[in-house]
Amino acid sequence: MTTLPNLRIDGARLWGELMETAAIGATQKGGICRLTLTDLDRQVRDWFKASAERLGCIVTIDSMGAMFARRPGRADVPPIAMGSHLDTQPTGGKFDGCLGVLAALEALRTLVEAGYETYAPIEMVNWTNEEGARFQPSMVASGVFAGAFEPDWASGRRDAAGTTFAEALEAIGYRGPQRCGEHPLSAFFELHIEQGPLLEAEDKTIGIVTGIQGIRWFEATVRGEDRHTGTTPMQLRKNALLGAARLVERVDAIARAHGPQAVGTVGRLEVRPNSPNVVPGEVFFTVDLRHPDTAVLDEMQSDWTAAGYAVTDELGLEVEIAKILDQPPVRFDADCIGCVREGARAMGFAAREIVSGAGHDAGYVSRVAPSAMIFVPCRDGISHNEAEYATPEHCAAGAQVLLQAVLGYDRLLQERAATRHA
Ligand SMILES: [Zn+2]
Repeated sequence: MTTLPNLRIDGARLWGELMETAAIGATQKGGICRLTLTDLDRQVRDWFKASAERLGCIVTIDSMGAMFARRPGRADVPPIAMGSHLDTQPTGGKFDGCLGVLAALEALRTLVEAGYETYAPIEMVNWTNEEGARFQPSMVASGVFAGAFEPDWASGRRDAAGTTFAEALEAIGYRGPQRCGEHPLSAFFELHIEQGPLLEAEDKTIGIVTGIQGIRWFEATVRGEDRHTGTTPMQLRKNALLGAARLVERVDAIARAHGPQAVGTVGRLEVRPNSPNVVPGEVFFTVDLRHPDTAVLDEMQSDWTAAGYAVTDELGLEVEIAKILDQPPVRFDADCIGCVREGARAMGFAAREIVSGAGHDAGYVSRVAPSAMIFVPCRDGISHNEAEYATPEHCAAGAQVLLQAVLGYDRLLQERAATRHA
């Protein structure tokens, strides 16, 4: 087995570029407002494209505006890609997404400056509209890339002003000729801030992301009867809010009963008619269940729906339950995870395995190419917030592990090819 070259990314240069690009859409409170396919998005895309071209990369754009910047390798095989997204939430931070793209740039520049030739081509990717703040759903380009969404449907999504995704793409000059998805990858690696509190709490520098938890959303409507609160004796009531209140408790209890990785939330509740002197006749609410394991999600779902019928039945109410979202858990590729683990070990960084609580482009990409992610801590676990912060040291460590993982996978591809030809 060949050893990996001893290449070191430049943490100060990475930090400098994180701050430089953060000025494009900078907010007063130190964050970034750079909604997808706006002129600010165009500016940061132009910056990224120019930076990639200065390193000798060939930049191609696909029909969803995803950007690919390729440095050739020795072999004619699909590239090993690394990247994330450059769009932000309206009150986003400086690191969500941007770190993954700029760390890819720093890693690739390290290869160029060392004159190190990889076996596979290496590519940097900027996925369009990861955030879903301007156009829903989120992660739309990687979703089309992976075949999860129809391209025409995605292109026709409208923002609040009625502009379609395709029109916005056209307006900033980033509608590319390559059909989204017709771009094979050997592998994909995404560095991202954790957006949660675990790494910081355990003083770990690197999260070896093994997957993304599954999400199921339900809408429930509990129906009883509107009655006068003063004249209706307790035993004659059909109080829909009482049923919903008990179900809020049950959802919480179901999540707690399924171990530390399960979460369950009723986040929205609408009481009708919502008047102080009417026994509530109807309540609408949402249920959000998440777990990394499909079997456990199945159990949580059946526990919640069983509770829905039992609780309402007991109170003489009726309930209607509809599942409106079912995102299966993602298990990242064992070889890619291995490359991340080995990269962290070789660099001597404290690391732990972790399952992502949030969705990421790598989740969709993993449907069509071996993929994995690297997390670094963010202060207090705060993200989607202008106060979002990751230290220069942690950003540099993440970029270094990203480079190691890509080089490790490159070696793996080369060894496989050698075995085939032996
Ligand atoms: Zn992100």
